[in-house]
Amino acid sequence: MTNTALLLERLGGLIQQSLREDAARHGLLPIHVQVLHYLAQANHYSNLPIAIAEYFGITRGTVSQTLAVLERRGLLCKAPDSRHGKRLRLSLTPAGEAALQGSWTGRLETALEGLSVGAAELDGTLRSLLAALQQINGQRAFGVCRQCAHFLTGDSGSQCGLTGEPLTTAQSGRICREWTAPVTG
Ligand code: SF4
Repeated sequence: MTNTALLLERLGGLIQQSLREDAARHGLLPIHVQVLHYLAQANHYSNLPIAIAEYFGITRGTVSQTLAVLERRGLLCKAPDSRHGKRLRLSLTPAGEAALQGSWTGRLETALEGLSVGAAELDGTLRSLLAALQQINGQRAFGVCRQCAHFLTGDSGSQCGLTGEPLTTAQSGRICREWTAPVTG
C-alpha cells in the first residue's frame, strides 16, 4: 500500500468513526445519517430512492428499509412526483435538518480551514480521484450542478441543457445523478 492510499484509508476510517458517533447520538445507524446528508444535498432529479441506491452502491431493499426508519422517526417525508405518478420524491423534515446540526462535516470543515493548501486545488484533486474510482467501479459521478457539462447560463438565468428546465441558484449548487463531466482541453 502506498503512503497516499494509507492516508486515505485512515481518513476514511476517521470519518466512519465520526459517522457512527453522530448516528448513535440519534439512535440511528450510519447509513441513516448518510442518507439524510445525501438528501440535504441532492437536487430535484436526484431525491429518489433509486438515486440513493446508486449513490451509496446499496440495494433497493436496503434503501426501502432505511427510508422506512427515517420516515417512522419523522426525519423525512415522501411525496408523489406530480409528473411521474409512480415516483416518490424525498425531502428532509425540519427534524431531519436538525439531526444534521453539529455533525462530523462541521469538524472536517474546521480542519480544512486550517490547511495551507488551496481549497480549490484540493477539491480538484479529490474530485479527479473520486471520478477515477467511480469509473473503475462503474458508478455515476453525482457532481455539483453548476460544474456539469449540461449547465447553461444566459440573460434569463441558469438552465439544464439536458432537460431544458430552468435552474434556481439553490438547485445549481446541489448534486445531481445526471451530472456529466465537462470536456477539458
Ligand atoms: S445541468 Fe447537469 S447537473 Fe444540473 S440538473 Fe442538468 S444534468 Fe443535472
